Parts: sequence; C-alpha cells; structure tokens
Amino acid sequence: MLILIISDIHANLTALDAVLSDAGEFDAVWCLGDLVGYGPDPNECVERIRQLPNLVCLIGNHDAAVIKRIDIASFNDEARQAVIWTQSVLSQTNLEYLQGLNAYTTLDSVTLAHGSPRQPIWEYLLDTRTATKNFEFFDTPFCFVGHSHLPVIFQKYDGQENADLFIPKQDSHLEMAPRAILNPGSVGQPRDRDPRAAYAIYNPDAQTWSYQRVPYDIPSVQVRMRANNLPQRHINRLSTGW
Ligand code: ZN
Repeated sequence: MLILIISDIHANLTALDAVLSDAGEFDAVWCLGDLVGYGPDPNECVERIRQLPNLVCLIGNHDAAVIKRIDIASFNDEARQAVIWTQSVLSQTNLEYLQGLNAYTTLDSVTLAHGSPRQPIWEYLLDTRTATKNFEFFDTPFCFVGHSHLPVIFQKYDGQENADLFIPKQDSHLEMAPRAILNPGSVGQPRDRDPRAAYAIYNPDAQTWSYQRVPYDIPSVQVRMRANNLPQRHINRLSTGW
C-alpha cells in the first residue's frame, strides 16, 4: 500500500500534474489542504483532486477564506487579493466541494491536520518548541501537516522530552520514528528556496516516508497568473521557491 501525501497545491495545476505523473503507482491520496489561493487554476485543481483514488482531503486556511468560513481580514493584502479573485472564478460545484471538507481527521495510525493538531487551520509548525507541544494534541503515532510549505520532520523517541527537527533528503525512504509530525512540503508554492514541487509517499506497512521533488514548467504558470492580474510578488516567488 502506497499513499501519496500532498499539500498546499494553491491552484497550481502544472505543479500538481507534475507530482501526479512523477509519483508513479499509488493506492490512495491524502491531501492536507490549501487546494486554492495564490495560483491561476483553482477550478482545475479542485477537479483534478476530487478525481483522485481513495482520497482523504482536508481544508486549508486559504480554502476556508474562499468559502468564508474564516475572516479574510486575517490575510495580508496580496493573499486577500488572491482569495477574492478565487471567489470570483470558482464554480458552485467546486465551492460546495470545499465547503464539505474538514481541517482535521484521524485515520488508523495517522492524524491529518492542515496547520497543526492543536490549531488545525492556523498554527505553523516551524520550530521544535511548538512541535513538541503539539505532540500532546494527537494520539496516533504519526501526524501529517502542511501549511508552512516547508518539508520537515519532527520526531520523538520514547522518553525524549523535546522533539528533533530534520529536513529529509530527496528519495530517502525514511523509517519513521515511534512518533513523528511530518510535512511533505508544498506542491504549488514551495518556500524552501527550491522551486520544484514537493510531495511524499507514505508506506503504512513498512512505515516509511519517501520525500520527493519534481521540476515543472514554472513560466507557464506565471503567464496564467499574469493574465489574471494576480499579485506580482506571488508570480515572482515561484521562480526561486520562497
Ligand atoms: Zn498554504
């Protein structure tokens, strides 16, 4: 059994398709939210994701803003601009799809949350202190999160007080620690200075996490963003992954 783990697609269909073809065979897909926001292809991305096999899909803060579940005032100007544009183009069917999503769920041995198990929509897990606290907020061995757009693993062995942080290497099939919080990175807007789309493959039988990157045609996405008058800063950042 292989499960494709994706997050923070942000309406970037070119990046999403690159991930789907690079990932090879998989049996299920767990998507950790932020299907839309920033990018030019919100309808296409929601439609592509909805068709994926054995899908579990969470809502992210950008999706929640688009469906007005959270206040748009909490976003910075440019992110807000992208939310308003997304609201203006998203089809009713896709809007209703986003309305049906939750920000948190527990499967067999994994908890899924967009931001963190403590605050599924908003909290960023960027440091060991915050991550260590969050180990108290889920009961399963593992928790998969997105939101920060940074591929990172926080892990804890028995008796260990503070979680360790490490950045996985591409193509590494990591054996997962007894307890871990894992972030696959972002498909559509990476922020670790590597512009390639990020994802992971989780093997629940072997308990391994395989972290991957794949290049995609960034200029073609930037052309569509420009055509829709999306913020220049969001266009620029795709080139360098910040
Ligand atoms: Zn995001």
